[in-house]
Amino acid sequence: TDKKAKTLNSVINAIFPLLETEALLSNKIIHLDLNDCPEVLLDEKEIRQLILNIALNGLEAMEPGGCLTIATYLDSEGVVLAIEDEGKGIDTNILDKIGTPFFTTKDTGTGLGLAVCYSIASRHNAEIKISSSTRGTTFYISFNQVQSVS
Ligand code: ADP
Ligand code: MG
Repeated sequence: TDKKAKTLNSVINAIFPLLETEALLSNKIIHLDLNDCPEVLLDEKEIRQLILNIALNGLEAMEPGGCLTIATYLDSEGVVLAIEDEGKGIDTNILDKIGTPFFTTKDTGTGLGLAVCYSIASRHNAEIKISSSTRGTTFYISFNQVQSVS
């Protein structure tokens, strides 16, 4: 892989037009809440893929009118990318199967999207956490910030 120091915001902004088009096709909206964060060491193609896989799942999980929020911020976990949907959530009895290759609850799903995300995250030493309720799901992906030289 080919990692460079970049901001998550630059990657999100690069794929936003694609995501927004996809959202509008099913009458959903995307809200960005991008805060100034340090750069992280990332392979841009892989992180685009990770964001797309999680965001497209989020869009699919929502009824028309739903809003998907993509946020970035810095906290004690590092530089965090949070992708939050207003879907029906993930059943607690399947939460531990999420990310297993070929696990899907969709008629025509591949069950590969999140498995790919977990490998991408692992190659970036990034951690994925999921918080889900009947009101929606949030995926948190935390990265180490690039240490600035002083
Ligand atoms: P696929 O989208 O092909 O089913 P994924 O690996 O992307 O495969 O997702 C696996 C499963 O995880 C989905 O079938 C769905 O049951 C669940 N899932 C993933 N993201 C969400 C979400 N945002 N809301 C509800 N369920 C989700
Ligand atoms: Mg998927």
